Amino acid sequence: MKIPSARFLVSNSDYKKCPKPDLPEYAFIGRSNVGKSSLINALFDNKTLAKTSSKPGKTQLINHFLINEEWYLVDLPGYGYAKVSKSVKAEFQKIIYQYLEHRENLQCVFVLVDIRIPPQKIDLEFMEWLGKTQIPFSIIFTKADKLKKGEKETSIARFKEEFLKSWEFFPDYFVTSSNTKTGMEDIFQFITEINQGF
Ligand code: GDP
Repeated sequence: MKIPSARFLVSNSDYKKCPKPDLPEYAFIGRSNVGKSSLINALFDNKTLAKTSSKPGKTQLINHFLINEEWYLVDLPGYGYAKVSKSVKAEFQKIIYQYLEHRENLQCVFVLVDIRIPPQKIDLEFMEWLGKTQIPFSIIFTKADKLKKGEKETSIARFKEEFLKSWEFFPDYFVTSSNTKTGMEDIFQFITEINQGF
């Protein structure tokens, strides 16, 4: 697979200041520590593209990357960390939600979920909000290298069961590992197909 080129463009905390919405855009979001920075770095075979956060909630803004001069990747702040104040949390949420609601070129939000842990209320509630707001999303299960095949299947089945309590269908999903690069091609394939219709 030819790895697309990736270039950091700009950080914003106001969706109105984001780059002109003239290319298809894909946002990556998940709970802090889910493996988002590692995934973005693995996608582009670049160890420093997205800063791997040692401190939860370090990525505070809407970070735009230009990929192959063809599409935008957006790295959004991690949610769900415990160590910031309520007012900071509320401010982050406002920034993220406004961006998601108003960004007209947004094609899909990739919600990252750690494959090892039981379904988390915060992830399910966020996806419910995306659904209600009619924002398309897919799920990326991360850290798949940490589980055996059978365990992965059990974990995904458990997630599906919980998810389907409030949904009629399960969205597209990817099983990935940044360590082994599993699933990277599938994500690019998915994006390429959507881009063709933009
Ligand atoms: P972020 O806070 O969502 O950006 O998460 P990071 O990318 O900083 O990752 C959090 C922790 O999970 C780090 O210790 C990573 O080394 C580890 N991690 C991330 N992705 C993987 C993966 O695919 N496999 C394994 N085994 N560990 C991972």
